[in-house]
Amino acid sequence: MTGPVQQVLKPGDTIGILGGGQLGRMLAMAAARLGLRCNVFSPDPDSPAFDVVQNAVCAEYADVEALEMFAADVDVITYEFENVPASAALVLAARKPVLPDYQILETTQDRLAEKDFVTKLGIGTAAYADVTSAQTLRAAIAKLGLPSVLKTRRFGYDGKGQIILREGDDPDAAWEKLETRAAILEAFVPFEREVSVIAARGSDGQVVCYDITENEHRDHILKVSRVPAPVSDAVAGEARRIATTIADALNYVGVLAVEMFVVPGDGGAKVLVNEIAPRVHNSGHWTLDGASVSQFEQHIRAIAGWPLAEPLRHGAVTMTNLIGHDVDDCARWLTVPGATLHLYGKRTALAGRKMGHVTVIEPR
Ligand code: AMP
Repeated sequence: MTGPVQQVLKPGDTIGILGGGQLGRMLAMAAARLGLRCNVFSPDPDSPAFDVVQNAVCAEYADVEALEMFAADVDVITYEFENVPASAALVLAARKPVLPDYQILETTQDRLAEKDFVTKLGIGTAAYADVTSAQTLRAAIAKLGLPSVLKTRRFGYDGKGQIILREGDDPDAAWEKLETRAAILEAFVPFEREVSVIAARGSDGQVVCYDITENEHRDHILKVSRVPAPVSDAVAGEARRIATTIADALNYVGVLAVEMFVVPGDGGAKVLVNEIAPRVHNSGHWTLDGASVSQFEQHIRAIAGWPLAEPLRHGAVTMTNLIGHDVDDCARWLTVPGATLHLYGKRTALAGRKMGHVTVIEPR
């Protein structure tokens, strides 16, 4: 399936980015290298992306006047996070093209809708059940067994809004602790590794996938990504096929990430989808230094209507996140041969906050 005819940007044109975090910052830097300007919209005056663009709008997503002014100054609008309020996206889409299509967010903002969507494509996920009360939670546990993972349907990230339920745990207490009425229960997946595929799709339907990345989490936050992931060609092929199927089904334009579990099995390892991120993704940061074209540039190319590039990887790449006070060690990284340091310019190193990352490449 191909998308509507897309406008092709010219160098000097302006991209509007919703969200001012490090992803917006790295998108804006990639755009600048291609001669494109960016204007960033973010409610947070301390946004890392504000530092690298000339034009920034600091306003709430409910501020229609600010959204209208932002839209007036840009040629195309994109976003760097998935929780853009639908009301804001509607105001913007009435004025300028928004890519990827914001209606995709209805699927990816809601874990239940996302799992239903993936399942309908014939792609495997953890077994799951809709949970709306302590009573439905008990029924879901009876169906899926323990251990299992209770997750809020919306606004969960980095392990927030989820509770692992084990034998002997009190479901009523867990339900109260989650403080929601919309959740899902997922069977616990005994995965051998977690991987992700970063895929770019152009408006002409071309899909380009990066090499499969293995991801290691600490305290539910991505700590290290390694490429290539040590998986068989069959698993790598299946992971790519899944990401491509999802990108096509969403008629996606831009970069998306699909997080997956690799599960051992008698007939060979299986791949299950955990989550879709409709944006550039932390597990693709290695592409900045480790590939001929980064995920950020690829996203900019896609939304600008420019051709995508087939990325060439420069070697075996390890990307390590600097989380919280890890960043205090940044001077050491400056002296490590082959290491490239990225700092996001955040002022305070709070626990769990992504402050920067380091890429180390072992050339082939
Ligand atoms: P999520 O927010 O859904 O990406 O979950 C964060 C992390 O929790 C994942 O990267 C996994 O390490 C772990 N996790 C989430 N869901 C499951 C599951 N159903 N089974 C096992 N581990 C899980």
